[in-house]
Amino acid sequence: MLGAIEAGGTKCVLAVGPSPDTMIARHTLPTTTPAETLGAAAQWLAAQGPLRALGIGTFGPAELDRAAADWGHITNTPKAGWQNCDMAGYFARALGVPTAFDTDVNAAAIAEAAARPDCGALAYITVGTGIGGGLVIGGAPVHGAGHPEMGHIFPRRHPADRDFPGICPHHGDCLEGLASGPAIAKRWGASLSQLAADHIAHEVIADYLAQLCHSLFAIAAVDIVVLGGGVSKTPGLIARVAARTGEIGAGYLPGHARQRIEAPRHGENAGITGALMLAERLG
Ligand code: ZN
Repeated sequence: MLGAIEAGGTKCVLAVGPSPDTMIARHTLPTTTPAETLGAAAQWLAAQGPLRALGIGTFGPAELDRAAADWGHITNTPKAGWQNCDMAGYFARALGVPTAFDTDVNAAAIAEAAARPDCGALAYITVGTGIGGGLVIGGAPVHGAGHPEMGHIFPRRHPADRDFPGICPHHGDCLEGLASGPAIAKRWGASLSQLAADHIAHEVIADYLAQLCHSLFAIAAVDIVVLGGGVSKTPGLIARVAARTGEIGAGYLPGHARQRIEAPRHGENAGITGALMLAERLG
């Protein structure tokens, strides 16, 4: 049996199954303190029977370098109490199983890429409380000096959105500071799906997300950008982002006719399915 954890800032999803396609039990816990949340997660997983391996997809920032002394730790997260939390070590010790550790968005990207066998490179973007992105090229999640933090690029400001300073505590008007759910609520007092379809917010947010999609097409030549997370569920948003990305790209990129922007094929289960795949890859 494989075990998996998708650790988010507000909730943790747990699952077990003989393979990533066959989840036989799934459980959700609130993310509170490390002691409480990790303890309850380990207890639930242990109660499902012996595990062969565990895959973790986590919120970040996190240390993914196996050679680093703090591999498997959440590092400098703003989430209170979770700084320097040894998440992978905790589960490896508590459950006594080989443990894989990656970001929640890299895990989701692995699952979405696997659902599209002809896809060479895929990015998974979550737009919700924050904005994060994972990148898979040739089936492998991209690590480097740390992991991608795509929410913190700087888009060109939309002409109708010049004055809002943005809400990122580090950068102000980076993409997350401008287009995350809390940034939308702060400017317009509602979520994107609550605002009328002709409200300027839809155009502004689609423009910012399109700039990220265009950058991914231009930098990494990805075939597909998957847009997940709560904000991405706004009716019509993905189509607006795709249309705006086409305008920005102006037909220049060599692969543009094949590049697409899509909703997750795994829906809400992209991250946890990817975490099961991380476990499966341990053998
Ligand atoms: Zn930022």
